[in-house]
Amino acid sequence: MSEYKQNINKEPFKAVANTAQQLNTPVYVIGGYVRDLLLGRKSKDVDFVVAGSGIDFARSLAQSMGNDTEAKYFENFGTAMIRYKSWELEFVGARKESYRKNSRKPIVENGTLLDDLKRRDFTINALSISLNKEDFGQLHDEFNGLEDLENKIIRTPLDPDITFSDDPLRMMRAIRFATQLGFSIEKNTLKAIERNKNRISIVSGERVADELNKIVGSNKPSVGFLLLEKTGLLKLIFPAFTDLKGVEVINKRAHKDNFYHTLKVLDNICLTTDNLWLRWAAIMHDIAKPVTKRYDDKAGWTFHGHEFVGAKMVPRLFKKLKLPLNEKMHYVQKMVLLHLRPIILAEDVVTDSAVRRLLFDAGEEVDDLMLLCEADITSKNEVKVKRYLKNFQLVRQKLKEVEEKDRIRNWQPPISGEIIMETFGLSPSKTVGDIKTGIREAILDGLIHNSYEEAYPYMLKIAREMGLEVKDSHYTSGSGSEENKEQKLS
Ligand code: ATP
Repeated sequence: MSEYKQNINKEPFKAVANTAQQLNTPVYVIGGYVRDLLLGRKSKDVDFVVAGSGIDFARSLAQSMGNDTEAKYFENFGTAMIRYKSWELEFVGARKESYRKNSRKPIVENGTLLDDLKRRDFTINALSISLNKEDFGQLHDEFNGLEDLENKIIRTPLDPDITFSDDPLRMMRAIRFATQLGFSIEKNTLKAIERNKNRISIVSGERVADELNKIVGSNKPSVGFLLLEKTGLLKLIFPAFTDLKGVEVINKRAHKDNFYHTLKVLDNICLTTDNLWLRWAAIMHDIAKPVTKRYDDKAGWTFHGHEFVGAKMVPRLFKKLKLPLNEKMHYVQKMVLLHLRPIILAEDVVTDSAVRRLLFDAGEEVDDLMLLCEADITSKNEVKVKRYLKNFQLVRQKLKEVEEKDRIRNWQPPISGEIIMETFGLSPSKTVGDIKTGIREAILDGLIHNSYEEAYPYMLKIAREMGLEVKDSHYTSGSGSEENKEQKLS
């Protein structure tokens, strides 16, 4: 751990130390940067505490650093931010905080370095390194943070009940750090989260979502969700997830615990993707199982339609969780809706038309869908798992073959609505849509190829069956140069 001294002997710390000497103002590196430095994790975001005005300090520093810097001053908050090369340096004056019951925003006064350390959330975040001449590079460790770092422990520096009640977001942060760093939460600290869980109600949903996303983005998110569940926080912030918990038994027949299954799927998918939204899709893929659960004497436990109901639940869940109500949400919805499709394919004989339909419905997201389905295989029966994975290989191969042949993935109708309207003298109407659908279905069923040449005569055939007559034969099938065909299609 002593290599940390080499790091703070370099830029930009030398420049900060020079300014401290010139202004005769003590300054310390503090918080996450120190923690990560000691853990050997690289970071370029650094927090500094100044025994005086953070803004005045930053102004002098920015001046001395010259053109390489971009500085921002937040007078209302008493903080300053300097971008220096690829570094982001934040300065704040040492402060003392006190809290009111109904807000996590503290009343702030000027304070000493010790006051400032006391307002930090965890001992591992309350370590500081001096940049002052007398003790340059000295680690200040008021609360045994170093020992906790070595033992991989999350602990509050002061009474955890006060720490969490003052700012309940810290409960989420404790669990997030435990998940990201692979640390455990000290017993008394964990108990205090349980006792103060209801205080989470004063934290904005957006801040909770930020922490949740960091948990979901970690290597093994199940660690965080298990802690959230154990402390009772999960039921308060995401009750639909805890509803998945439990096993019911009728006539000695049990279904699996969908909470633990979902966590396994989530951890599995984290091995193959960093896509946060695919990870959320894993979280929500079985979310409607509790509301669709039925027991049938013959079939046992069923969850019919949970993919449809689940997809419908996604917008409401996103809204409650303060997740973005944009294309990310639609993506998760699509994944939830389609998550059984490749599995059904893998169970059955894989026909070209089933593969074409999957390509049509999943479009560009088909590869992500396959990842989700593979992650969804959590059976303890190894033979079964092997069989599924083998069949998935087959599905993947078929997907590739069919896509090469038929180009369904990025679907463009081979006959446009305009061509249909001009050919049969129609105005925009349901009939035009019906003809387009008829052509699409024939392609997906494999009756015709996905080409203008085969779609045109097929269009004539269905139109004839509908009693329509050709009014304009300007468009014809087949013959003509490639250029002509392109013009017809455009
Ligand atoms: P990360 O960058 O992964 O979020 P970090 O520890 O750098 O980790 P920041 O949110 O940047 O997190 O906070 C910087 C430091 O400020 C923390 O290390 C901690 O000392 C302190 N801090 C941040 N939020 C709180 C809080 N809610 N309560 C008390 N101290 C906090």
